[in-house]
Amino acid sequence: MPQLARRMSRAKPSVIMQVAEKAKRLKAEGRDIISFSIGVPNFLPGPHVYEAARQAVEKDSGQYGSNRGPDALLDALLQHVEQIGLTGYTRANCATGIGAKHVIYNLAEALLDEGDTIAFPAPYWTSYVDIAEIVNAKIQLLPCPASQNYKLTPQQLDEALASKPKVFLFNNPSNPTGMVYTKDEVVALADVLVKHPDTWIIADDIYNRMLFDGLEYYNFVLARPELRDRVIFLDSLSKTYGMPGWRLGFMVGPEAVAKALVTLNSNHITNVPEVVNAAGIAALTGPQDVPEQKRVEFQAKRDQVMAVMDAIPGVVCPRPQGAFYVFPDISCAFGKSHNGVKIENDVDFCNVLLEAKGVACVPGSAFGEPRALRISYTCPTPQLAPGLARFQEFFAELS
Ligand code: PMP
Repeated sequence: MPQLARRMSRAKPSVIMQVAEKAKRLKAEGRDIISFSIGVPNFLPGPHVYEAARQAVEKDSGQYGSNRGPDALLDALLQHVEQIGLTGYTRANCATGIGAKHVIYNLAEALLDEGDTIAFPAPYWTSYVDIAEIVNAKIQLLPCPASQNYKLTPQQLDEALASKPKVFLFNNPSNPTGMVYTKDEVVALADVLVKHPDTWIIADDIYNRMLFDGLEYYNFVLARPELRDRVIFLDSLSKTYGMPGWRLGFMVGPEAVAKALVTLNSNHITNVPEVVNAAGIAALTGPQDVPEQKRVEFQAKRDQVMAVMDAIPGVVCPRPQGAFYVFPDISCAFGKSHNGVKIENDVDFCNVLLEAKGVACVPGSAFGEPRALRISYTCPTPQLAPGLARFQEFFAELS
Protein backbone atom coordinates (compact mmCIF):
# COMPACT_ATOMS: atom_id res chain seq x y z
CA MET A 1 0.00 0.00 0.00
CA PRO A 2 1.37 3.49 -0.79
CA GLN A 3 2.39 5.60 2.23
CA LEU A 4 0.73 8.71 3.57
CA ALA A 5 2.80 11.89 3.48
CA ARG A 6 5.35 12.24 6.32
CA ARG A 7 3.48 15.27 7.61
CA MET A 8 0.60 13.01 8.60
CA SER A 9 2.82 11.30 11.17
CA ARG A 10 3.01 14.70 12.85
CA ALA A 11 -0.72 15.46 12.57
CA LYS A 12 -2.80 14.48 15.61
CA PRO A 13 -6.54 14.54 16.23
CA SER A 14 -7.59 17.16 18.80
CA VAL A 15 -7.40 15.88 22.42
CA ILE A 16 -10.34 18.12 23.34
CA MET A 17 -12.51 16.42 20.75
CA GLN A 18 -11.44 13.00 22.10
CA VAL A 19 -12.58 13.88 25.65
CA ALA A 20 -15.83 15.31 24.27
CA GLU A 21 -16.39 12.12 22.25
CA LYS A 22 -15.79 9.90 25.32
CA ALA A 23 -18.28 11.98 27.35
CA LYS A 24 -20.81 11.64 24.53
CA ARG A 25 -20.30 7.89 24.36
CA LEU A 26 -20.84 7.44 28.11
CA LYS A 27 -23.97 9.57 27.87
CA ALA A 28 -25.27 7.43 25.02
CA GLU A 29 -24.69 4.39 27.28
CA GLY A 30 -27.10 5.93 29.75
CA ARG A 31 -24.61 7.49 32.19
CA ASP A 32 -25.43 10.82 33.82
CA ILE A 33 -22.66 12.98 32.34
CA ILE A 34 -21.99 16.67 32.85
CA SER A 35 -19.56 17.97 30.29
CA PHE A 36 -17.14 20.78 31.10
CA SER A 37 -15.02 19.70 28.16
CA ILE A 38 -15.59 21.38 24.82
CA GLY A 39 -15.17 25.12 24.41
CA VAL A 40 -18.47 25.92 22.73
CA PRO A 41 -20.45 28.98 23.74
CA ASN A 42 -23.71 26.98 23.92
CA PHE A 43 -26.09 29.70 22.80
CA LEU A 44 -27.64 30.58 19.48
CA PRO A 45 -27.41 33.89 17.64
CA GLY A 46 -30.32 36.35 17.48
CA PRO A 47 -33.25 35.91 15.03
CA HIS A 48 -31.88 38.60 12.67
CA VAL A 49 -28.96 36.27 11.86
CA TYR A 50 -31.32 33.49 10.75
CA GLU A 51 -33.41 35.98 8.81
CA ALA A 52 -30.32 37.20 6.91
CA ALA A 53 -29.38 33.59 6.13
CA ARG A 54 -32.91 32.88 4.84
CA GLN A 55 -32.81 35.96 2.63
CA ALA A 56 -29.40 34.93 1.27
CA VAL A 57 -30.86 31.58 0.26
CA GLU A 58 -33.79 33.36 -1.43
CA LYS A 59 -31.52 35.48 -3.61
CA ASP A 60 -28.74 32.92 -3.94
CA SER A 61 -26.30 33.81 -6.74
CA GLY A 62 -25.23 30.18 -7.02
CA GLN A 63 -21.77 31.45 -7.98
CA TYR A 64 -18.26 31.22 -6.57
CA GLY A 65 -17.53 34.18 -4.31
CA SER A 66 -14.54 36.39 -3.56
CA ASN A 67 -11.44 34.62 -2.17
CA ARG A 68 -11.07 37.47 0.31
CA GLY A 69 -14.74 37.83 1.23
CA PRO A 70 -17.51 40.03 -0.19
CA ASP A 71 -17.10 43.80 0.25
CA ALA A 72 -20.13 44.05 2.53
CA LEU A 73 -18.59 41.51 4.90
CA LEU A 74 -15.16 43.16 4.83
CA ASP A 75 -16.80 46.50 5.65
CA ALA A 76 -18.67 44.86 8.53
CA LEU A 77 -15.39 43.37 9.82
CA LEU A 78 -13.68 46.76 9.59
CA GLN A 79 -16.52 48.40 11.49
CA HIS A 80 -16.36 45.62 14.09
CA VAL A 81 -12.63 46.11 14.76
CA GLU A 82 -13.04 49.90 14.80
CA GLN A 83 -15.27 49.44 17.85
CA ILE A 84 -12.25 48.15 19.75
CA GLY A 85 -10.04 50.98 18.48
CA LEU A 86 -8.39 49.25 15.52
CA THR A 87 -8.88 52.03 12.99
CA GLY A 88 -7.32 52.95 9.65
CA TYR A 89 -7.50 49.52 8.08
CA THR A 90 -9.04 48.93 4.64
CA ARG A 91 -10.51 45.92 2.84
CA ALA A 92 -7.00 45.14 1.57
CA ASN A 93 -5.95 44.49 5.17
CA CYS A 94 -8.61 41.79 5.66
CA ALA A 95 -8.91 38.10 4.86
CA THR A 96 -11.57 35.60 5.86
CA GLY A 97 -11.51 31.85 6.43
CA ILE A 98 -13.55 28.86 7.59
CA GLY A 99 -13.25 29.85 11.26
CA ALA A 100 -10.26 31.39 13.02
CA LYS A 101 -8.70 27.91 13.10
CA HIS A 102 -8.51 27.95 9.32
CA VAL A 103 -7.09 31.49 9.38
CA ILE A 104 -4.38 30.30 11.81
CA TYR A 105 -3.66 27.31 9.59
CA ASN A 106 -3.37 29.64 6.59
CA LEU A 107 -1.08 31.95 8.57
CA ALA A 108 1.16 29.01 9.46
CA GLU A 109 1.43 28.19 5.75
CA ALA A 110 1.95 31.81 4.81
CA LEU A 111 4.52 32.81 7.44
CA LEU A 112 6.45 29.67 8.42
CA ASP A 113 8.87 27.74 6.26
CA GLU A 114 9.80 24.24 7.47
CA GLY A 115 12.17 24.59 10.43
CA ASP A 116 11.18 28.19 11.23
CA THR A 117 10.33 28.89 14.85
CA ILE A 118 6.98 29.90 16.26
CA ALA A 119 7.02 31.07 19.91
CA PHE A 120 3.98 31.15 22.19
CA PRO A 121 3.13 31.04 25.89
CA ALA A 122 2.09 27.80 27.59
CA PRO A 123 -0.69 27.07 28.54
CA TYR A 124 -1.75 27.41 24.91
CA TRP A 125 -4.76 26.48 22.80
CA THR A 126 -4.05 22.91 21.62
CA SER A 127 -4.36 23.60 17.89
CA TYR A 128 -1.35 25.95 17.95
CA VAL A 129 0.93 22.97 18.51
CA ASP A 130 -0.97 20.69 16.16
CA ILE A 131 -0.89 23.20 13.30
CA ALA A 132 2.77 24.14 13.86
CA GLU A 133 3.68 20.45 13.77
CA ILE A 134 1.87 19.86 10.49
CA VAL A 135 3.84 22.65 8.78
CA ASN A 136 7.01 21.33 10.47
CA ALA A 137 7.81 24.50 12.38
CA LYS A 138 9.93 24.48 15.54
CA ILE A 139 7.92 25.32 18.63
CA GLN A 140 9.38 27.56 21.31
CA LEU A 141 7.20 27.39 24.41
CA LEU A 142 7.24 30.18 26.98
CA PRO A 143 6.10 28.57 30.25
CA CYS A 144 3.62 30.65 32.25
CA PRO A 145 2.59 28.57 35.31
CA ALA A 146 -0.20 29.35 37.76
CA SER A 147 2.39 30.96 40.05
CA GLN A 148 2.65 33.82 37.50
CA ASN A 149 -1.09 33.88 36.87
CA TYR A 150 -0.57 32.05 33.56
CA LYS A 151 0.69 35.33 32.10
CA LEU A 152 3.77 36.05 30.04
CA THR A 153 6.19 38.59 31.51
CA PRO A 154 7.98 41.24 29.43
CA GLN A 155 11.32 39.75 30.47
CA GLN A 156 10.31 36.28 29.25
CA LEU A 157 9.18 37.77 25.96
CA ASP A 158 12.39 39.76 25.57
CA GLU A 159 14.51 36.65 26.13
CA ALA A 160 12.39 34.57 23.75
CA LEU A 161 12.52 37.12 20.95
CA ALA A 162 16.30 37.49 21.22
CA SER A 163 16.59 34.27 19.20
CA LYS A 164 14.39 35.84 16.47
CA PRO A 165 11.50 33.40 16.09
CA LYS A 166 9.66 33.98 12.82
CA VAL A 167 6.31 34.25 14.58
CA PHE A 168 5.17 35.13 18.09
CA LEU A 169 1.62 33.94 18.74
CA PHE A 170 -0.29 35.56 21.56
CA ASN A 171 -3.78 34.76 22.78
CA ASN A 172 -5.74 37.26 24.87
CA PRO A 173 -8.18 36.54 26.55
CA SER A 174 -6.75 33.07 26.88
CA ASN A 175 -8.09 29.66 26.10
CA PRO A 176 -7.52 27.61 28.32
CA THR A 177 -6.87 29.92 31.30
CA GLY A 178 -9.46 32.70 30.83
CA MET A 179 -6.77 35.18 31.88
CA VAL A 180 -6.89 38.67 30.40
CA TYR A 181 -3.91 41.00 30.12
CA THR A 182 -4.56 44.47 31.51
CA LYS A 183 -3.80 47.56 29.45
CA ASP A 184 -0.54 48.07 31.37
CA GLU A 185 0.51 44.47 30.77
CA VAL A 186 -0.23 44.73 27.03
CA VAL A 187 1.74 48.00 26.83
CA ALA A 188 4.72 46.43 28.61
CA LEU A 189 4.74 43.48 26.18
CA ALA A 190 4.25 45.80 23.18
CA ASP A 191 7.29 47.82 24.30
CA VAL A 192 9.33 44.61 24.10
CA LEU A 193 7.89 43.67 20.70
CA VAL A 194 8.99 47.00 19.26
CA LYS A 195 12.60 46.09 20.08
CA HIS A 196 12.46 42.90 17.99
CA PRO A 197 11.51 43.83 14.42
CA ASP A 198 12.18 40.41 12.83
CA THR A 199 9.17 38.62 14.28
CA TRP A 200 5.59 38.51 13.01
CA ILE A 201 3.00 38.85 15.76
CA ILE A 202 -0.29 36.97 15.64
CA ALA A 203 -2.82 38.31 18.14
CA ASP A 204 -5.44 35.60 18.51
CA ASP A 205 -7.97 37.76 20.31
CA ILE A 206 -11.16 35.96 19.35
CA TYR A 207 -12.56 36.32 22.91
CA ASN A 208 -12.10 40.11 22.88
CA ARG A 209 -15.80 40.82 23.58
CA MET A 210 -16.03 38.38 26.45
CA LEU A 211 -14.46 40.34 29.30
CA PHE A 212 -15.60 40.58 32.91
CA ASP A 213 -15.29 42.88 35.92
CA GLY A 214 -15.41 46.02 33.75
CA LEU A 215 -12.02 45.17 32.22
CA GLU A 216 -11.42 46.74 28.79
CA TYR A 217 -9.86 44.94 25.88
CA TYR A 218 -6.46 46.20 24.81
CA ASN A 219 -4.18 45.26 21.96
CA PHE A 220 -0.54 45.64 20.80
CA VAL A 221 -1.47 47.99 17.93
CA LEU A 222 -3.36 50.28 20.30
CA ALA A 223 -0.35 50.27 22.63
CA ARG A 224 2.33 50.85 19.97
CA PRO A 225 0.88 51.85 16.57
CA GLU A 226 4.24 51.21 14.87
CA LEU A 227 3.57 47.49 15.39
CA ARG A 228 0.75 47.70 12.83
CA ASP A 229 3.12 46.45 10.08
CA ARG A 230 3.69 43.20 11.96
CA VAL A 231 0.58 42.49 14.01
CA ILE A 232 -2.07 40.20 12.58
CA PHE A 233 -5.28 40.53 14.58
CA LEU A 234 -7.62 37.52 14.58
CA ASP A 235 -11.30 37.40 15.34
CA SER A 236 -14.14 34.95 14.80
CA LEU A 237 -17.89 34.77 14.97
CA SER A 238 -17.74 31.45 16.82
CA LYS A 239 -17.59 32.54 20.46
CA THR A 240 -18.90 36.11 20.45
CA TYR A 241 -22.03 35.35 18.46
CA GLY A 242 -22.68 31.73 19.42
CA MET A 243 -21.90 30.61 15.84
CA PRO A 244 -19.08 28.02 16.08
CA GLY A 245 -20.67 25.74 13.50
CA TRP A 246 -21.16 28.50 10.94
CA ARG A 247 -17.38 28.70 10.50
CA LEU A 248 -16.41 32.30 9.88
CA GLY A 249 -13.13 33.75 11.07
CA PHE A 250 -11.03 36.63 9.86
CA MET A 251 -7.80 38.58 10.16
CA VAL A 252 -7.00 42.26 9.95
CA GLY A 253 -3.33 43.14 9.47
CA PRO A 254 -0.60 43.91 6.97
CA GLU A 255 -1.75 43.91 3.34
CA ALA A 256 0.92 41.42 2.25
CA VAL A 257 -0.25 38.89 4.83
CA ALA A 258 -3.92 39.34 3.96
CA LYS A 259 -3.05 38.90 0.28
CA ALA A 260 -1.13 35.68 1.01
CA LEU A 261 -4.19 34.29 2.79
CA VAL A 262 -6.43 35.26 -0.11
CA THR A 263 -4.06 33.39 -2.45
CA LEU A 264 -4.20 30.30 -0.21
CA ASN A 265 -8.01 30.54 -0.09
CA SER A 266 -8.06 30.67 -3.89
CA ASN A 267 -6.29 27.31 -3.86
CA HIS A 268 -8.42 25.45 -1.36
CA ILE A 269 -11.70 26.84 -0.07
CA THR A 270 -12.23 29.46 -2.83
CA ASN A 271 -14.69 31.32 -0.64
CA VAL A 272 -16.67 31.22 2.58
CA PRO A 273 -20.23 30.27 1.52
CA GLU A 274 -22.62 33.09 0.63
CA VAL A 275 -25.20 32.16 3.31
CA VAL A 276 -22.54 32.18 6.03
CA ASN A 277 -21.26 35.56 4.89
CA ALA A 278 -24.77 37.01 5.01
CA ALA A 279 -25.35 35.60 8.50
CA GLY A 280 -21.96 36.99 9.54
CA ILE A 281 -22.79 40.49 8.30
CA ALA A 282 -26.06 40.38 10.24
CA ALA A 283 -24.31 39.19 13.42
CA LEU A 284 -21.61 41.86 13.19
CA THR A 285 -23.85 44.80 12.28
CA GLY A 286 -27.15 43.84 13.93
CA PRO A 287 -28.30 44.11 17.55
CA GLN A 288 -25.60 43.11 20.02
CA ASP A 289 -27.93 42.16 22.87
CA VAL A 290 -27.32 38.37 22.70
CA PRO A 291 -23.51 38.54 23.05
CA GLU A 292 -23.84 41.14 25.80
CA GLN A 293 -26.42 39.08 27.69
CA LYS A 294 -24.15 36.02 27.43
CA ARG A 295 -21.16 37.98 28.64
CA VAL A 296 -23.06 38.91 31.79
CA GLU A 297 -24.23 35.31 32.22
CA PHE A 298 -20.69 33.93 31.79
CA GLN A 299 -19.36 36.34 34.37
CA ALA A 300 -21.89 34.99 36.89
CA LYS A 301 -20.92 31.42 35.96
CA ARG A 302 -17.25 32.29 36.39
CA ASP A 303 -18.09 33.46 39.92
CA GLN A 304 -19.93 30.22 40.61
CA VAL A 305 -16.98 28.09 39.43
CA MET A 306 -14.43 30.19 41.29
CA ALA A 307 -16.36 29.95 44.56
CA VAL A 308 -15.90 26.17 44.38
CA MET A 309 -12.26 26.29 43.24
CA ASP A 310 -11.38 28.66 46.07
CA ALA A 311 -13.06 26.32 48.57
CA ILE A 312 -11.04 23.20 47.67
CA PRO A 313 -7.90 22.94 49.78
CA GLY A 314 -4.72 22.65 47.69
CA VAL A 315 -6.26 23.77 44.39
CA VAL A 316 -4.55 26.86 42.96
CA CYS A 317 -6.70 28.75 40.52
CA PRO A 318 -5.86 32.20 39.16
CA ARG A 319 -9.11 34.11 38.71
CA PRO A 320 -10.08 34.37 35.04
CA GLN A 321 -11.53 37.62 33.73
CA GLY A 322 -12.63 36.59 30.26
CA ALA A 323 -13.60 33.84 27.79
CA PHE A 324 -15.43 30.94 29.45
CA TYR A 325 -12.74 28.78 30.96
CA VAL A 326 -11.28 28.14 34.39
CA PHE A 327 -7.91 26.40 34.64
CA PRO A 328 -7.23 25.12 38.15
CA ASP A 329 -3.87 23.64 39.12
CA ILE A 330 -4.99 20.31 40.60
CA SER A 331 -1.51 18.82 41.12
CA CYS A 332 -2.26 18.53 44.87
CA ALA A 333 -4.25 15.42 43.91
CA PHE A 334 -1.32 13.64 42.27
CA GLY A 335 -0.16 10.61 44.24
CA LYS A 336 -3.57 10.26 45.92
CA SER A 337 -6.28 7.68 45.24
CA HIS A 338 -10.02 7.72 44.62
CA ASN A 339 -11.79 4.55 45.81
CA GLY A 340 -8.48 2.73 45.50
CA VAL A 341 -7.71 4.04 42.00
CA LYS A 342 -4.36 5.84 41.96
CA ILE A 343 -4.08 9.28 40.35
CA GLU A 344 -0.59 9.95 39.04
CA ASN A 345 -1.23 12.84 36.68
CA ASP A 346 -3.80 15.10 35.00
CA VAL A 347 -4.93 12.46 32.50
CA ASP A 348 -5.57 9.94 35.32
CA PHE A 349 -7.39 12.66 37.25
CA CYS A 350 -9.74 13.46 34.36
CA ASN A 351 -10.35 9.78 33.57
CA VAL A 352 -11.12 8.83 37.19
CA LEU A 353 -13.29 11.93 37.64
CA LEU A 354 -15.27 11.06 34.50
CA GLU A 355 -15.66 7.40 35.48
CA ALA A 356 -16.51 8.06 39.14
CA LYS A 357 -18.57 11.24 38.93
CA GLY A 358 -19.57 11.62 35.30
CA VAL A 359 -17.86 15.00 35.00
CA ALA A 360 -15.80 15.59 31.86
CA CYS A 361 -12.86 18.05 31.93
CA VAL A 362 -9.88 18.32 29.59
CA PRO A 363 -6.45 17.41 31.04
CA GLY A 364 -4.07 20.36 31.18
CA SER A 365 -1.37 18.47 29.31
CA ALA A 366 -3.47 19.01 26.17
CA PHE A 367 -2.66 22.71 26.69
CA GLY A 368 0.98 22.27 27.73
CA GLU A 369 0.31 22.47 31.49
CA PRO A 370 0.11 18.96 33.00
CA ARG A 371 -0.52 20.23 36.54
CA ALA A 372 -3.94 21.61 35.60
CA LEU A 373 -7.21 20.83 33.89
CA ARG A 374 -9.65 22.96 31.92
CA ILE A 375 -13.23 23.56 32.92
CA SER A 376 -15.37 25.08 30.18
CA TYR A 377 -18.41 26.39 32.03
CA THR A 378 -20.86 27.05 29.20
CA CYS A 379 -22.98 23.99 29.99
CA PRO A 380 -26.71 24.63 30.56
CA THR A 381 -27.05 26.61 33.82
CA PRO A 382 -28.95 23.88 35.75
CA GLN A 383 -26.00 21.50 35.21
CA LEU A 384 -23.31 23.82 36.51
CA ALA A 385 -23.96 23.59 40.27
CA PRO A 386 -24.36 19.77 40.34
CA GLY A 387 -21.24 19.38 38.16
CA LEU A 388 -19.24 21.57 40.51
CA ALA A 389 -20.62 19.77 43.56
CA ARG A 390 -19.45 16.44 42.12
CA PHE A 391 -16.03 17.98 41.42
CA GLN A 392 -15.76 19.15 45.03
CA GLU A 393 -17.01 15.80 46.36
CA PHE A 394 -14.40 14.00 44.27
CA PHE A 395 -11.65 16.01 45.96
CA ALA A 396 -13.10 15.32 49.41
CA GLU A 397 -13.04 11.58 48.65
CA LEU A 398 -9.35 11.48 47.72
CA SER A 399 -7.09 9.66 50.14
N1 PMP B 1 -8.35 30.53 18.87
C1 PMP B 1 -8.71 30.18 20.11
C2 PMP B 1 -7.94 30.71 21.26
C3 PMP B 1 -9.80 29.31 20.31
O1 PMP B 1 -10.17 28.99 21.56
C4 PMP B 1 -10.51 28.83 19.19
C5 PMP B 1 -11.68 27.89 19.33
N2 PMP B 1 -11.66 27.04 20.40
C6 PMP B 1 -10.09 29.24 17.92
C7 PMP B 1 -9.01 30.08 17.79
C8 PMP B 1 -10.79 28.78 16.68
O2 PMP B 1 -12.06 29.30 16.57
P1 PMP B 1 -12.96 29.08 15.28
O3 PMP B 1 -12.20 28.25 14.31
O4 PMP B 1 -14.19 28.41 15.75
O5 PMP B 1 -13.21 30.46 14.75
